[in-house]
Amino acid sequence: ETTAPTNFIRQAIEQDIAAGKNDGRVVTRFPPEPNGYLHIGHAKSICLNFGIARDYDGICNLRFDDTNPHKENVEFVRSIQEDVRWLGFSWGDRVFYASDYFEQLYGFAVELIEKGLAYVCDLSAEETRTYRGTLTEPGKESPFRQRSVEENLDLFRRMRAGEFPDGAKVLRAKIDMASPNMNMRDPTLYRIRHGVVHHQTGAEWCIYPMYDFTHPISDALEGVTHSLCTLEFEDHRPLYNWVLDNINAPCHPQQIEFSRLNLQYTVMSKRKLTQLVDEGHVEGWDDPRMPTIAGMRRRGYTPASIRDFIDRIGVSKSENTVEMTLLENCVRDDLNVNALRRMAVLHPLKVVIENYPEDQVEEVEAANHPQDPSQGTRRIPFCREIYIDAEDFREEAPKKFKRLVTGGEVRLRNAYVIRCDEVIKDPQGEIVELRCSYDAATLNANPEGRKVKGVIHWVSARHGIEAEVRLYDRLFGVPSPDSAAAKEGRDYKEFLNPDSLRTLTGCVLEPTLADEEVGALYQFEREGYFSRDATVNAAARPIWNRTVTLRDSWAK
Ligand code: ATP
Ligand code: MG
Ligand code: MG
Repeated sequence: ETTAPTNFIRQAIEQDIAAGKNDGRVVTRFPPEPNGYLHIGHAKSICLNFGIARDYDGICNLRFDDTNPHKENVEFVRSIQEDVRWLGFSWGDRVFYASDYFEQLYGFAVELIEKGLAYVCDLSAEETRTYRGTLTEPGKESPFRQRSVEENLDLFRRMRAGEFPDGAKVLRAKIDMASPNMNMRDPTLYRIRHGVVHHQTGAEWCIYPMYDFTHPISDALEGVTHSLCTLEFEDHRPLYNWVLDNINAPCHPQQIEFSRLNLQYTVMSKRKLTQLVDEGHVEGWDDPRMPTIAGMRRRGYTPASIRDFIDRIGVSKSENTVEMTLLENCVRDDLNVNALRRMAVLHPLKVVIENYPEDQVEEVEAANHPQDPSQGTRRIPFCREIYIDAEDFREEAPKKFKRLVTGGEVRLRNAYVIRCDEVIKDPQGEIVELRCSYDAATLNANPEGRKVKGVIHWVSARHGIEAEVRLYDRLFGVPSPDSAAAKEGRDYKEFLNPDSLRTLTGCVLEPTLADEEVGALYQFEREGYFSRDATVNAAARPIWNRTVTLRDSWAK
């Protein structure tokens, strides 16, 4: 059965296959620069590239685009592999580094020099900028543009040999200083960088190739057929093609551009995310408020929900900013089906059930998933002292308050109906405890002769586990921190939401949650979805992160 392609890129690929282009093969690549952790924007590119390879019996390479060594490191290389795998994709042995190609790239640069298509230029960075001209004015040719092939070959060899300091010389393509496309005005192909130790090649090289030279050649060396990239590379495409047209390339991949993913209430540039980490605005790259894959994993987002989100937003050429609520709804939809239910009290208020026998403990049965009986049940201890949430009690309340009030009744989920008989306060007037009585005939049964509408959750005070719970809100207080900053001439960090993390200590979880593994994910009934964190706090209490609330409280 055939289905219509879901986006314009798949459409183009299907046409190529039908036309027998590349012998019908499809090879894509995901090419991150290891200068930060992957974020949700990268997930779009990952799902696109790996998804196409999967669906067209093709191959997707993982390639580290590592030609900028001073910002890159092996921690980023490691985290990128972990995150791509976690998202559900694999590359087999198809993992490459652009730095693997340094020798070949050098050879192709020599080929361009020999063809009179590249030259060594001694202009300073500042002069190069001035010579380049503007969008409305053509550039000026460098005085070094007419160097002979022999002189260029000699100088380029000596650049590699380390004879010149940083910035003294660059290798440039000889294209067209009057081109309306600035990228074609003799772009730099190589620059000198002494004293950096590359994470893959060490100190072997002191010249490094530029992205616009490296990328097309890396694609061609790997036999990539479709090189998918974001829209800002659209006007680099002529240069991509120029490079491949002018060297003896093994093949000529096709570059196709699509729009970046932008998401509300966050920033996505790696420079900015790095800054948030380095300046301590967040706990690290995997802070659950970060738009990083590692942050979302720690927060409890599932790979399936992220893939679903990427599916829902689609792939096009028009830039837009996606609502955060769309991502959160994908997470909810997944967890609603797949997360088992538990009870946890986030703001504990002690309840003593005075007519319940002091020494008695009974186990009540609770469904793991009320909508899915196949998930079975669990047994939770019930006794004379329990905790309920302070928000589930009011001394006096309007009629529509369906929880516990003085003198009123409420059902304890999975257990009995209780009535509040007395409120105990401390000398400051704070409520510290409720004295209640229970109706022994109401376990899994309606009370006689009256209706009790409210149902609240609870945890045995003798058996509950103390925990820390972290509630997260938007990292930024405005939907578009970047444009707000630009518009108001302020720094984007001024728009950070000061209340993006609220830590609750002294929360109490039902005892079945005692030995949960890091990453365990549950719905705490009536509170939201929560995931066990790896962090250990000073009090050695388990930490649970709220993944997402039950409902979209922002929609209201
Ligand atoms: P930044 O501009 O923040 O440095 P980048 O695009 O340079 O990000 P890379 O590591 O080079 O980051 O990205 C790897 C791949 O992921 C590229 O092909 C890039 O186009 C894609 N990508 C990065 N950000 C997004 C995004 N927001 N939406 C879609 N694809 C993205
Ligand atoms: Mg970048
Ligand atoms: Mg990049």
